Amino acid sequence: MQPSGLSAEELFKRGLGITYLDFSVLDTFKTSIPRTSIDLSTDLGKGVKLATPIIASPMDTVTNAELCIALAEEGGIGVLHFNHKKPDGSKDLEAQMLEIERVKRSQSGFIENPVTVAPHHTIREAVEIGTRYKVGNSRIDTFPVTEDGKSDGKLVGLLRKQDYSPVQHTGMRVGDRMLHMGKLTYGNWPLTLERANQILWDEHIPSLPIVDEHGHLKYLVTRKDIDKGEQFPLATKDEKGRLRVLFSVSTHDDDRVRVEAGFAAGADGVVIDTSQGFTIYEEQTILYIIQNHPDKLVLGGNISTPEAAIFLSDLHSDSYRNGQGSGSICTTAGALGISRAGAAGVYNCARELKGTNLRTIADGGLREVGDILKAIASGAHAVMLGNMLAGCDEGPGEVVIHESGKPVKEYRGMGSKEANVGGIRGYSRLPQGVKGQVPYRGSIHTWIPLIRDGLLSAFHVLNCQNQQSGIHDLV
Ligand code: IMP
Repeated sequence: MQPSGLSAEELFKRGLGITYLDFSVLDTFKTSIPRTSIDLSTDLGKGVKLATPIIASPMDTVTNAELCIALAEEGGIGVLHFNHKKPDGSKDLEAQMLEIERVKRSQSGFIENPVTVAPHHTIREAVEIGTRYKVGNSRIDTFPVTEDGKSDGKLVGLLRKQDYSPVQHTGMRVGDRMLHMGKLTYGNWPLTLERANQILWDEHIPSLPIVDEHGHLKYLVTRKDIDKGEQFPLATKDEKGRLRVLFSVSTHDDDRVRVEAGFAAGADGVVIDTSQGFTIYEEQTILYIIQNHPDKLVLGGNISTPEAAIFLSDLHSDSYRNGQGSGSICTTAGALGISRAGAAGVYNCARELKGTNLRTIADGGLREVGDILKAIASGAHAVMLGNMLAGCDEGPGEVVIHESGKPVKEYRGMGSKEANVGGIRGYSRLPQGVKGQVPYRGSIHTWIPLIRDGLLSAFHVLNCQNQQSGIHDLV
C-alpha cells in the first residue's frame, strides 16, 4: 500500500514556509497502548524536567510570579520578563528579582531562611512582616521566633496563627503570645524530609522548625507544602522541593549584573531574550553564563535556521527558542523582511540537531492545542506560549469585556511601542510588535489540565507513549 499523505521530509522540502495551519498529522498508527501509560514529560537540560512541555514566554502581559507558580504547579515552567520600570521610566532590576524570590519561596520541602520574628517584636510588627513576605495572596501567619529575630538565630519559640489575633493583640509582645521551647515540637538536623513530614502527622502540628546542633534555626517544614505536593503531583521542582522558575536577560554587557542577581535570587536557569540570537552578543552572553554558572540551565535564541542552531549547539546552550517573526503579535516579518514560518523552522533545525544535546523549543504562532502537538511532531521538545497563556487569571492585567461582549485580556508584543522595552532610552522607531487582545481563559489550573488532556488524546491516537517513541518523526 502507498503510504498516506507526505512524509515530514516531503512536507518540509527546503525553502517551503510551512506554518502549523498548513498541515495536519494523519492517524496512520493502530492504537494499542493504554491512555494512562502516556507520559508528556520533557527534559530541558541541567536536570530541569517538565511533566508538561509548556513554557510561558517572558512577556510583560504574560508572566509574573503568580502565573509562574501556577504553571510550575501544573508541570510547566515560566520565564520572568525584565521589563519592569521605576516611576521615572528607568529600568527596575530589583522588581524582577523580587518576582523570582516570590516563586522560589512559594513552596518548599525544607524552607531556607524562613521569615522570623524576635520575642521583643509587637504582634503588629509581626503582622507587618508577614504581610511584606506574603506567599501567594496570603500573608505569612506562622513565624519561628529567634533570639535576635534573624533566620539563623537561636530558636526560642514559635508564633502560630492560633496564638494571636491580628486585631486584638497588636500591642502585645511576640514573647508573650508565642509557644515557648518547652512546649514546642522541633526537629534536629540532619533529618530527611520524609521524617520531618512524619513528625508533622504524628504530632498533629502544621509546622516544624528544625535546629542545628547549637539550637540555631536551620529550616522550617510545613503541612501546607505537603498538601501542595499532594494537590500538584506534576509540579516542576528543584532538588530542595521548591518550584522552578527561569528569568530572562538581554545580551547587553550591562545586563551581566542581572544574570548574577537572578541566580543569587534562586532562579533555575536563564533565557537570553533577543529576537535575533545568531550574533556575537549572544555568543558572549552564553559564554559568560556557562563560565560563571556551569550548573544552571541556559536557553538561547531566538533563531530559526539550522546554521544558527549549530552555532547554539557548539556554544553548549541547553535548549533554545526556535521562532523568528512567527509570533501572533509579531510584525518582524513585515518590518525587517526576516522571518520563518514556525513549523518549518522547528523541523529543519531539529533535524539538523539530531544527535546533539540541544533541545528545540517551538516559540511563536501556537494558537490551539493541536498546534502544540504539531510542533512536537515537527521535532520540538517543548513549546513556548504567549498568546495561549496571556488570557489566564494569574498573569498581569485585568479581564475586560470586548465590544463583542466576550471577556478578553490585553496582550502585546515585547517589541511593540506600548511595551517600550528601551525604558527611558525610548522605544525603537521601527516597532516589531503590536498590541491586541486574547480570549479570557480562566485559571492556569483549569486551562493547563485541558491542554494536557488534548495532548494525551493526540499521543494516544498516534500510539505514542512519550516523546522518545517516534512522535518527533510523525509528520
Ligand atoms: P505567540 O504565542 O504566537 O503570541 O508568540 C509569542 C512569541 O512571540 C514570544 O515568545 C516571542 O518569541 C515573540 N515575541 C514577543 N514579542 C514580540 C514582538 O514584539 N515582536 C516579535 N515577536 C515577539
